[in-house]
Amino acid sequence: MTFDTPVLAVHYAEIALKGRNRHAFLRRLRNNILVALKGEPVSHVNHIESRLLVRLDDATRADAVAAKLQRVFGVQWLSVATAVPRACLGDDLAGLGEVAAALARRDVGNARTFRVDTRRSDRNFPLVSTEINRLVGNAVGEAIQLPVRLHGADFTVHVLMLRNEALIFTQRLPGPGGLPASSGGRVMTLLSGGIDSPVAAWMLMRRGCRSDFIHFYTGRTAAEADAAKILRLAAILREHTPTDLHLYLAPTYPYESRAIGVIAESHDMVLFRRYMLKVAEQLARRTDCHALVTGDSLGQVASQTLYNLGAIGPDVRLPVFRPLIGTDKVEISALARRIGTFETSIEPYRDCCSLRSPHPILRGRAREVLALSERMDMDGAIAEALEAIEKMVITEPGA
Ligand code: ATP
Ligand code: MG
Repeated sequence: MTFDTPVLAVHYAEIALKGRNRHAFLRRLRNNILVALKGEPVSHVNHIESRLLVRLDDATRADAVAAKLQRVFGVQWLSVATAVPRACLGDDLAGLGEVAAALARRDVGNARTFRVDTRRSDRNFPLVSTEINRLVGNAVGEAIQLPVRLHGADFTVHVLMLRNEALIFTQRLPGPGGLPASSGGRVMTLLSGGIDSPVAAWMLMRRGCRSDFIHFYTGRTAAEADAAKILRLAAILREHTPTDLHLYLAPTYPYESRAIGVIAESHDMVLFRRYMLKVAEQLARRTDCHALVTGDSLGQVASQTLYNLGAIGPDVRLPVFRPLIGTDKVEISALARRIGTFETSIEPYRDCCSLRSPHPILRGRAREVLALSERMDMDGAIAEALEAIEKMVITEPGA
């Protein structure tokens, strides 16, 4: 007996804890899944007994669909399962055992021990989990000729008993977790060409926020700016969300033309950071974004000391989220690899920050920064930058 209409069982975690809003979150998750799987042979996405079941018409697309689902925010984990209808389970679960044995033969690899793990969503099923484990375990053991090991087995056959069918699978694939895209508000991420800021954006996106992006370039015009790398980073982030992304390109010259001869090298980095943050704040207000996001990590570079972070924007009135503040580069790089931005981030790029003095002050003071801002006409620089900003829309590939 074979069943080759695969079902992807999608599990969520945090949404389950929501109270009255739970249904709205679930509806959002289901919609986002449908958008992520546009063009795939999906016949149904149903919410059944605390999970979403995605049914496919074409088994050959199962792995590709699983990979897409692994990026959908709100998905905790998923499995590519084989469904056995209740009517086909068989006396003493012979039918179920047969399908489990076939799956085990296919997936066992080099494992030396195995176990069966049964969950009963349908509590009225006449057999309890341990009995199902034993019956299915007998069939699987015979097929793959391996001993059972209840703790620490290196191969597990999972059985999920639902009301109308049983699902069998051998792998749990991790999703990103978090909350469905567009269930939170909008934020504005300051996107550099580095490793950190795409990860910071992804972390807010994972909390359900939609992120817009602002990037500061050197050069006279946006067309002249070498923004290809930034566009590629944004395109990778686009693959994680159901909506188009907005990227704003802002010039650095309004700052530079005013800072020259006024701002000492030692203070240039802190003042420039302030310029970026203040321009981003103004843009955020115009674009209905309710917080700023940066990739700062405490102490990573001189501009990110505790004192400088405090001195840069004492008068910024939007929340500034720095989701990486307590993480180190090894952790951030691991996340960047998982998100898919790492390889692009490490390509060479002349970011405007790397062009600044390598020896900034470490203990910036807010009062001094505000006084210097006045002296160099920071407000004029911000206004000029806002005038010059250009907007780009990052659409899905092939759109
Ligand atoms: P990343 O932090 O993304 O790896 P980086 O290390 O080159 O890039 P930092 O000097 O650590 O950048 O800058 C700290 C943060 O300031 C960045 O994470 C980003 O949010 C913001 N930032 C830096 N340069 C730019 C830029 N050119 N445009 C927009 N934001 C920037
Ligand atoms: Mg950094």
